[in-house]
Amino acid sequence: MLVLSSPSGAGKTTLSRRLLSTEQNIEMSVSVTTRKPRSGEVDGKDYYFISADKFQEMVQNEQLLEWAEVFGNHYGTPRGPVEMTLAEGSDVLFDIDWQGTQQLHQRARDDLVRVFILPPSAEHLRQRLISRAQDPVEVVAKRMAKASDEISHWAEYDYVLINDDLERCSEEIFAILRSERLKRARRTGLSNFVRSMRADL
Ligand code: 5GP
Repeated sequence: MLVLSSPSGAGKTTLSRRLLSTEQNIEMSVSVTTRKPRSGEVDGKDYYFISADKFQEMVQNEQLLEWAEVFGNHYGTPRGPVEMTLAEGSDVLFDIDWQGTQQLHQRARDDLVRVFILPPSAEHLRQRLISRAQDPVEVVAKRMAKASDEISHWAEYDYVLINDDLERCSEEIFAILRSERLKRARRTGLSNFVRSMRADL
């Protein structure tokens, strides 16, 4: 399970898309949210847009692996699809905040790799949020205030990247995924391979 967290506007969505289109055997976890769709967002692809009642029902039925309140809306990771993807032998990519990352860490620390993306500067982040212009002005202001809060959790992550060059930052994420996949504990089947090799020596 690979988590990418960052304040909104640090380029996490673009980085996620690049990773998914470049690497095999990794699927995006599609979250549920009570937030209204932005223009261009597709239900079932960007998020599952659901009502507050439905969200509460999912929490009560333990259908969410983790969940959090962000900017007054609720966001959560549906458990079923993640478990199914992992069981099929694929990795799962999560675009979730620090609260969700902490919950996943408590549940499955050995199976989790946490990456935090920092913007190159505060000004850069401000411009990105304004130029995105999808959100009302007061929401942009809220997101800026929240950015500092989100960034304060940077030290809870395994890797911290600065997105000052999209190409380089993408390459760094690919390198993390590839290296983490090569860790001995994740290479199931390796002990049989070694055992049978030694038997032939
Ligand atoms: P946005 O509204 O910009 O799509 O997302 C706002 C924040 O919510 C982002 O930081 C994003 O990573 C986080 N987020 C999205 N889905 C989830 C989720 O399922 N769980 C948690 N904990 N955070 C999420």
